[in-house]
Amino acid sequence: MSLTGEYFPHLTENKLQKLNDFKVVFSEWNEKINCVSRKDIPFLEERHILHSLSIGLHIDMNRFNHVLDIGTGGGFPGIPLGIMFPDLEFKLVDSIGKKIKVVKEVAKALDLKNVHGVHERAENIKGEFDLILSRAVARTGVIIEWVRSNQDLRVLPDSKLLLLKGGDLKEELAEAGINYSLFPVSDLINIDFFAGKFIVDIEGKEIK
Ligand code: SAM
Repeated sequence: MSLTGEYFPHLTENKLQKLNDFKVVFSEWNEKINCVSRKDIPFLEERHILHSLSIGLHIDMNRFNHVLDIGTGGGFPGIPLGIMFPDLEFKLVDSIGKKIKVVKEVAKALDLKNVHGVHERAENIKGEFDLILSRAVARTGVIIEWVRSNQDLRVLPDSKLLLLKGGDLKEELAEAGINYSLFPVSDLINIDFFAGKFIVDIEGKEIK
Protein backbone atom coordinates (compact mmCIF):
# COMPACT_ATOMS: atom_id res chain seq x y z
CA MET A 1 0.00 0.00 0.00
CA SER A 2 2.81 2.41 -0.94
CA LEU A 3 0.57 5.09 -2.45
CA THR A 4 -1.49 5.51 0.72
CA GLY A 5 1.72 5.41 2.80
CA GLU A 6 3.01 8.38 0.80
CA TYR A 7 0.10 10.53 1.94
CA PHE A 8 -0.23 9.02 5.43
CA PRO A 9 3.42 8.56 6.44
CA HIS A 10 2.61 7.72 10.08
CA LEU A 11 0.41 4.72 9.25
CA THR A 12 0.78 1.92 11.80
CA GLU A 13 1.57 -1.62 10.65
CA ASN A 14 -1.89 -2.65 11.81
CA LYS A 15 -3.69 -0.06 9.68
CA LEU A 16 -1.49 -0.82 6.71
CA GLN A 17 -2.31 -4.51 7.09
CA LYS A 18 -6.05 -3.78 7.33
CA LEU A 19 -5.99 -1.56 4.24
CA ASN A 20 -4.21 -4.33 2.34
CA ASP A 21 -6.67 -6.92 3.64
CA PHE A 22 -9.51 -4.59 2.64
CA LYS A 23 -8.30 -4.59 -0.97
CA VAL A 24 -8.29 -8.38 -1.04
CA VAL A 25 -11.58 -8.99 0.78
CA PHE A 26 -13.47 -6.20 -1.01
CA SER A 27 -12.26 -7.40 -4.43
CA GLU A 28 -13.53 -10.91 -3.65
CA TRP A 29 -16.95 -9.60 -2.63
CA ASN A 30 -17.13 -7.28 -5.61
CA GLU A 31 -16.91 -10.35 -7.86
CA LYS A 32 -20.13 -11.64 -6.28
CA ILE A 33 -21.97 -8.37 -5.68
CA ASN A 34 -21.05 -5.53 -7.97
CA CYS A 35 -20.35 -2.41 -5.92
CA VAL A 36 -17.65 -0.70 -7.99
CA SER A 37 -16.91 -1.18 -11.68
CA ARG A 38 -14.83 -4.36 -12.18
CA LYS A 39 -12.56 -2.32 -14.43
CA ASP A 40 -11.70 -0.20 -11.37
CA ILE A 41 -10.46 -3.11 -9.25
CA PRO A 42 -6.80 -2.82 -10.43
CA PHE A 43 -7.01 0.85 -9.40
CA LEU A 44 -8.91 0.27 -6.15
CA GLU A 45 -6.29 1.93 -3.96
CA GLU A 46 -6.05 5.14 -5.95
CA ARG A 47 -9.62 5.58 -7.18
CA HIS A 48 -11.57 4.40 -4.18
CA ILE A 49 -9.41 3.98 -1.07
CA LEU A 50 -7.26 7.09 -1.43
CA HIS A 51 -10.22 9.12 -2.68
CA SER A 52 -12.12 8.13 0.49
CA LEU A 53 -9.11 8.95 2.65
CA SER A 54 -8.77 12.43 1.11
CA ILE A 55 -11.36 13.43 3.73
CA GLY A 56 -8.73 12.66 6.39
CA LEU A 57 -6.23 14.91 4.60
CA HIS A 58 -8.79 17.71 4.32
CA ILE A 59 -9.87 17.84 7.96
CA ASP A 60 -8.73 16.73 11.40
CA MET A 61 -10.99 13.70 11.79
CA ASN A 62 -10.23 13.44 15.50
CA ARG A 63 -12.51 16.42 16.21
CA PHE A 64 -15.47 14.12 15.37
CA ASN A 65 -17.02 11.12 17.12
CA HIS A 66 -20.10 9.93 15.22
CA VAL A 67 -19.78 9.67 11.46
CA LEU A 68 -22.59 8.93 8.99
CA ASP A 69 -21.86 7.80 5.42
CA ILE A 70 -25.01 8.27 3.29
CA GLY A 71 -25.26 6.00 0.22
CA THR A 72 -22.08 4.12 1.11
CA GLY A 73 -22.50 1.44 -1.61
CA GLY A 74 -19.78 -1.12 -0.88
CA GLY A 75 -18.31 1.09 1.87
CA PHE A 76 -16.88 4.28 0.36
CA PRO A 77 -15.76 6.47 1.96
CA GLY A 78 -16.77 4.83 5.27
CA ILE A 79 -14.64 1.69 5.36
CA PRO A 80 -11.22 3.16 4.46
CA LEU A 81 -11.88 6.00 6.94
CA GLY A 82 -13.08 3.50 9.56
CA ILE A 83 -9.78 1.63 9.23
CA MET A 84 -7.76 4.82 9.43
CA PHE A 85 -9.70 6.30 12.38
CA PRO A 86 -10.62 3.41 14.69
CA ASP A 87 -11.61 5.69 17.60
CA LEU A 88 -14.55 7.14 15.64
CA GLU A 89 -17.89 5.36 15.22
CA PHE A 90 -19.06 5.00 11.61
CA LYS A 91 -22.61 4.28 10.47
CA LEU A 92 -22.68 3.29 6.79
CA VAL A 93 -26.13 3.45 5.22
CA ASP A 94 -27.44 2.35 1.85
CA SER A 95 -30.90 1.64 0.47
CA ILE A 96 -29.68 -1.47 -1.37
CA GLY A 97 -29.50 -4.47 0.95
CA LYS A 98 -26.91 -6.48 -0.97
CA LYS A 99 -24.44 -3.58 -0.86
CA ILE A 100 -24.84 -3.41 2.90
CA LYS A 101 -24.21 -7.16 3.00
CA VAL A 102 -20.80 -6.44 1.43
CA VAL A 103 -20.13 -3.70 4.01
CA LYS A 104 -21.05 -6.02 6.89
CA GLU A 105 -19.05 -8.97 5.57
CA VAL A 106 -15.97 -6.84 4.93
CA ALA A 107 -16.22 -5.18 8.37
CA LYS A 108 -16.52 -8.63 9.96
CA ALA A 109 -13.59 -10.10 8.01
CA LEU A 110 -11.37 -7.16 8.99
CA ASP A 111 -12.71 -7.06 12.57
CA LEU A 112 -13.72 -3.40 12.25
CA LYS A 113 -15.69 -2.93 15.44
CA ASN A 114 -16.30 0.78 14.72
CA VAL A 115 -17.94 0.26 11.29
CA HIS A 116 -21.66 -0.52 11.23
CA GLY A 117 -23.55 -1.20 8.00
CA VAL A 118 -27.27 -0.34 8.02
CA HIS A 119 -29.77 -1.16 5.28
CA GLU A 120 -31.91 1.96 5.29
CA ARG A 121 -32.98 4.86 3.11
CA ALA A 122 -31.29 8.15 3.95
CA GLU A 123 -34.69 9.66 4.70
CA ASN A 124 -35.17 7.18 7.58
CA ILE A 125 -31.77 7.16 9.29
CA LYS A 126 -31.88 7.49 13.07
CA GLY A 127 -29.11 8.85 15.27
CA GLU A 128 -26.85 11.77 16.17
CA PHE A 129 -23.85 12.65 14.05
CA ASP A 130 -21.14 15.28 13.98
CA LEU A 131 -19.77 14.33 10.57
CA ILE A 132 -21.95 13.42 7.59
CA LEU A 133 -20.23 12.12 4.47
CA SER A 134 -21.46 11.14 1.04
CA ARG A 135 -19.63 10.20 -2.14
CA ALA A 136 -21.24 10.24 -5.56
CA VAL A 137 -24.81 9.74 -4.33
CA ALA A 138 -27.18 12.60 -5.18
CA ARG A 139 -27.32 16.32 -5.88
CA THR A 140 -26.25 18.43 -2.90
CA GLY A 141 -29.76 19.87 -2.44
CA VAL A 142 -31.25 16.36 -2.34
CA ILE A 143 -28.78 15.14 0.32
CA ILE A 144 -29.44 18.26 2.40
CA GLU A 145 -33.20 17.71 2.14
CA TRP A 146 -32.81 14.07 3.31
CA VAL A 147 -31.03 15.32 6.42
CA ARG A 148 -33.22 18.39 7.00
CA SER A 149 -36.56 16.64 6.74
CA ASN A 150 -35.56 13.63 8.85
CA GLN A 151 -36.78 14.26 12.42
CA ASP A 152 -34.86 11.23 13.75
CA LEU A 153 -31.49 12.41 12.44
CA ARG A 154 -29.79 14.90 14.77
CA VAL A 155 -26.90 17.03 13.55
CA LEU A 156 -24.68 17.75 16.57
CA PRO A 157 -23.09 21.17 17.25
CA ASP A 158 -19.89 22.01 15.30
CA SER A 159 -20.67 19.35 12.76
CA LYS A 160 -19.80 19.15 9.07
CA LEU A 161 -21.32 17.77 5.90
CA LEU A 162 -18.51 16.78 3.52
CA LEU A 163 -19.40 15.62 0.02
CA LEU A 164 -17.02 13.98 -2.45
CA LYS A 165 -18.16 15.14 -5.86
CA GLY A 166 -16.91 15.63 -9.39
CA GLY A 167 -17.61 17.87 -12.34
CA ASP A 168 -19.07 21.34 -12.68
CA LEU A 169 -20.83 21.97 -9.39
CA LYS A 170 -21.68 25.67 -9.67
CA GLU A 171 -25.32 25.26 -10.66
CA GLU A 172 -25.91 22.36 -8.27
CA LEU A 173 -24.47 24.27 -5.32
CA ALA A 174 -26.32 27.49 -6.15
CA GLU A 175 -29.56 25.51 -6.30
CA ALA A 176 -28.84 24.03 -2.84
CA GLY A 177 -29.02 27.54 -1.35
CA ILE A 178 -26.38 27.08 1.38
CA ASN A 179 -22.95 28.53 2.18
CA TYR A 180 -20.15 26.16 1.28
CA SER A 181 -16.43 25.92 0.55
CA LEU A 182 -15.02 23.93 -2.32
CA PHE A 183 -11.64 22.17 -2.08
CA PRO A 184 -9.99 20.42 -5.06
CA VAL A 185 -8.90 16.88 -4.13
CA SER A 186 -5.93 17.41 -6.47
CA ASP A 187 -4.57 19.97 -3.95
CA LEU A 188 -4.39 17.12 -1.42
CA ILE A 189 -3.33 14.24 -3.66
CA ASN A 190 -1.15 14.89 -6.64
CA ILE A 191 -2.56 12.29 -9.02
CA ASP A 192 -4.19 13.04 -12.41
CA PHE A 193 -7.27 10.97 -11.54
CA PHE A 194 -8.32 13.61 -9.01
CA ALA A 195 -8.47 16.49 -11.50
CA GLY A 196 -12.01 17.91 -11.38
CA LYS A 197 -12.87 16.17 -8.11
CA PHE A 198 -13.83 18.23 -5.09
CA ILE A 199 -14.68 18.10 -1.42
CA VAL A 200 -17.76 20.23 -0.78
CA ASP A 201 -17.43 21.45 2.81
CA ILE A 202 -20.66 22.60 4.48
CA GLU A 203 -21.12 23.59 8.14
CA GLY A 204 -23.74 21.51 9.93
CA LYS A 205 -25.58 24.67 11.03
CA GLU A 206 -26.29 25.41 7.35
CA ILE A 207 -28.49 22.35 7.07
CA LYS A 208 -30.19 21.89 10.43
N1 SAM B 1 -20.67 6.03 -2.04
C1 SAM B 1 -20.41 4.81 -2.80
C2 SAM B 1 -19.15 4.95 -3.62
O1 SAM B 1 -18.63 6.06 -3.72
O2 SAM B 1 -18.68 3.93 -4.16
C3 SAM B 1 -21.61 4.42 -3.68
C4 SAM B 1 -21.94 5.40 -4.76
S1 SAM B 1 -23.30 4.83 -5.76
C5 SAM B 1 -23.03 5.74 -7.23
C6 SAM B 1 -24.71 5.62 -5.00
C7 SAM B 1 -25.29 4.84 -3.84
O3 SAM B 1 -26.27 5.65 -3.18
C8 SAM B 1 -25.97 3.56 -4.25
O4 SAM B 1 -25.41 2.47 -3.56
C9 SAM B 1 -27.43 3.80 -3.86
O5 SAM B 1 -28.08 2.62 -3.44
C10 SAM B 1 -27.30 4.81 -2.74
N2 SAM B 1 -28.51 5.62 -2.52
C11 SAM B 1 -29.18 6.35 -3.44
N3 SAM B 1 -30.26 6.94 -2.86
C12 SAM B 1 -30.25 6.57 -1.55
C13 SAM B 1 -31.10 6.86 -0.43
N4 SAM B 1 -32.17 7.62 -0.55
N5 SAM B 1 -30.78 6.32 0.77
C14 SAM B 1 -29.70 5.52 0.90
N6 SAM B 1 -28.86 5.22 -0.11
C15 SAM B 1 -29.13 5.73 -1.33
